[in-house]
Amino acid sequence: MAEAPIKAFVCGHPIAHSRSPMIHGHWLKRYGLAGSYEAIDVSPAGFPDFLRALPASGFAGGNVTIPHKEAAFAGVAARDEAAELTGAVNTLWHSDGRIFGGNTDVHGFAANLDQLAPQWRKARTATVVGAGGAARAVVLALKNAGLADIRIANRTPERARELKDRFGGGISVAALEDLPELLRDTGLLVNTTSLGMKGVGPLPADTAPLPDHAIVTDIVYVPLQTPLLVAAAKRGLKTVDGLGMLLHQAAPAFARWFGMMPEVTGELRDLVVADIGKKT
Ligand code: NAP
Repeated sequence: MAEAPIKAFVCGHPIAHSRSPMIHGHWLKRYGLAGSYEAIDVSPAGFPDFLRALPASGFAGGNVTIPHKEAAFAGVAARDEAAELTGAVNTLWHSDGRIFGGNTDVHGFAANLDQLAPQWRKARTATVVGAGGAARAVVLALKNAGLADIRIANRTPERARELKDRFGGGISVAALEDLPELLRDTGLLVNTTSLGMKGVGPLPADTAPLPDHAIVTDIVYVPLQTPLLVAAAKRGLKTVDGLGMLLHQAAPAFARWFGMMPEVTGELRDLVVADIGKKT
């Protein structure tokens, strides 16, 4: 008897904006796999039941997005190392009735830079602006890459301190007002705040003090060229937009459910860029 097609999902609230069905759908078609990937709106109140029902649901697993990443972390039986260290789960799968959780954002951030600015691994000093959920994945990726001096500047200092406490050595905490001084010897500048997003004000950071070899990356990807990236490019600095992080975080999740590691190609990127252009 032919095996049933593998099914996966992304759940969040709201979820209509998610580009994950487009990404996974592209790979299913490209590799000729009989499977499906759908978006499911799950309210915060409904998430615990949704999670509990996963092993008998017919789904091999799925992605978890805002606002469920912490609830997923709490609700799974076991987690991979990245999830354990970040306190957030964005990928679910199950085996023998047990539910497992992983975090692929850490891989996504690093793989995007590896593809577009591989020299980032030689940077000694990184400045991370923001200390929210996404910043946890970014800081872990920086630590995994061996960066010895990571500064976190956030509007709310307690959140930056929480991140420092979570990840320990080599991390220092600063205020947004300290950025001009911090940027003078920054090799890699990362915006992890929602500033620069469509409809939100720009990040108040002047790229002028950055050294000429600095790389500037933004994890915001709508718009693709945030005001920060535009200013950095104008200065002649190497810039990397945030779309690649989204595409690369999807790849190990796809591999988990569908059994093969897909490639992040220019064709896939163009598909999502066109969709962003259509909707902005
Ligand atoms: P979050 O947990 O809500 O954190 C938001 C961060 O932005 C906090 O550091 C917050 O500072 C800061 N912030 C918000 N408004 C601000 C303002 N007016 N002035 C100064 N700081 C401000 O959100 P998140 O989950 O980390 O996501 C952050 C961004 O990353 C979103 O735009 C999201 O779409 C994007 N993202 C992209 C990817 C990708 O794959 N490319 C993955 C995940 C997230 P406070 O702590 O002071 O509030």
